[in-house]
Amino acid sequence: MLEQQRIHVLVADDEPHIGRIIKMKLEQGPFNVTLAYDGREALEKMESEPDIALVVLDVMMPYMTGLDVLARLRADDRWRAVPCIVLTAAGQEQHHKQAMALGANEFLTKPFSPKKLYARAAELTGVPTEGMGVSER
Ligand SMILES: [Mg+2]
Repeated sequence: MLEQQRIHVLVADDEPHIGRIIKMKLEQGPFNVTLAYDGREALEKMESEPDIALVVLDVMMPYMTGLDVLARLRADDRWRAVPCIVLTAAGQEQHHKQAMALGANEFLTKPFSPKKLYARAAELTGVPTEGMGVSER
């Protein structure tokens, strides 16, 4: 599949292995993943790569939290409608309400199932998951 036909996803997490796992899983399907490692870099990627169609944000990141990034996206006409999945560490579930109030489309607690993340990413971007073995939750 050509890169330009793939759905461009930004994944921002300060733990590099989490980003790698998500990238590996999503790129098994029609996604192309760009990684960022802090909140500031996430916003920079949004500016420089206008075709990003889905954003995955970890909450606890240096410089800006994922919730701060989400608030910035939802306050900007360019990004208001871009679906966002928020990730948080176990024990940080208090972020759930905040994330949803800020306009997150999905909230997952680590450790999460890559299969579930794939299924939600597919749902949020209109990619069929049937027959790919990834639609179960
Ligand atoms: Mg983190």
